[in-house]
Amino acid sequence: MPELRKDPISGRWVIISIERGKRPSDFGMRISPKKGGFCAFCAGNEHTTPPEILAFRPDKGAPDTPGWSLRVVPNKFPALHVEGKENRVGEGIFDKMNGVGAHEVIIENPDHNLTLSSLPLKSVEDTLWAFHQRMKDLKQDDRFKYVLIFKNEGDEAGASLEHSHSQLIALPIIPHLVQEEIYQAKQYYGYKERCIFCDIIHQETANKSRIIFENDEFVSLAPFAPRSPFETMILPKKHESSFLLNNNFNMLAEIIQKTLKQIDKGLEMPPYNPMIHTSPFHDETNNYYHWHIEIIPKLTKIAGFEWGSGFFINPTPPEEAAKFMREAEI
Ligand SMILES: [Zn+2]
Ligand SMILES: [Zn+2]
Ligand SMILES: [Zn+2]
Repeated sequence: MPELRKDPISGRWVIISIERGKRPSDFGMRISPKKGGFCAFCAGNEHTTPPEILAFRPDKGAPDTPGWSLRVVPNKFPALHVEGKENRVGEGIFDKMNGVGAHEVIIENPDHNLTLSSLPLKSVEDTLWAFHQRMKDLKQDDRFKYVLIFKNEGDEAGASLEHSHSQLIALPIIPHLVQEEIYQAKQYYGYKERCIFCDIIHQETANKSRIIFENDEFVSLAPFAPRSPFETMILPKKHESSFLLNNNFNMLAEIIQKTLKQIDKGLEMPPYNPMIHTSPFHDETNNYYHWHIEIIPKLTKIAGFEWGSGFFINPTPPEEAAKFMREAEI
């Protein structure tokens, strides 16, 4: 019997409908092998990207030359433009504003052939520091209300360049999905006076069936009502409302990489999108919202039913996914 489950954080319902006999590796979505060829993100081609905004250079070389271990550059084809004012205006009952924002690319490592799961751990940690530094800097710009950090791994998940990189977009509005989570979290706090994420962590770490990994500071788990097979959430165990308040990136890098290695191993390199959800700048410290990373493997197609209903149909129960990920041998 299929099961309807409600996600208490987003308020969204999903259908868990087990396709019998389907093993995780049967989904058949794989990252295509890297083809090589000219790459603007490789060392030696720095002049082909816009000038760097930030770089980690262990040997203190000049900007836009080789010798870096991580580089942040503006996106050459930005979704939003960094110059100008928002100019929010009404047009009858409609609202519009200029597409101002920052769109940056974080090149995680000079090596073309690595992925976030195969990078040296130090590179993952540096990547998190780069996110932190850029977010802190963009916060100074009062046009921006939120910074969304995400990654497209594999062209099926939206990656247009094969060299491993993450992206950030600073936005003049708070994204709808984040607003929904904040709304639900506030409601919950309103009658329980507890953070819903803290309560979930408490319950899940006691119950264990949906826990993937834990270390002293973080937990990685399969949500109770996931939209996609092997959807994963990584959260700080202690209450923390904003990613900007964290600096424990060694431990975070460790759990991210361990989780991604299991996803790669178990699902044979599926495409996926990791993203960070955090409190908006204007409300950085609060008791009800708890920053987290969501990782959504791209294994199923979004079709008419999903578009029309907002329901997702997930063929893999999270208990099974978590068990599989705990046990997949690296
Ligand atoms: Zn490259
Ligand atoms: Zn919390
Ligand atoms: Zn979220």
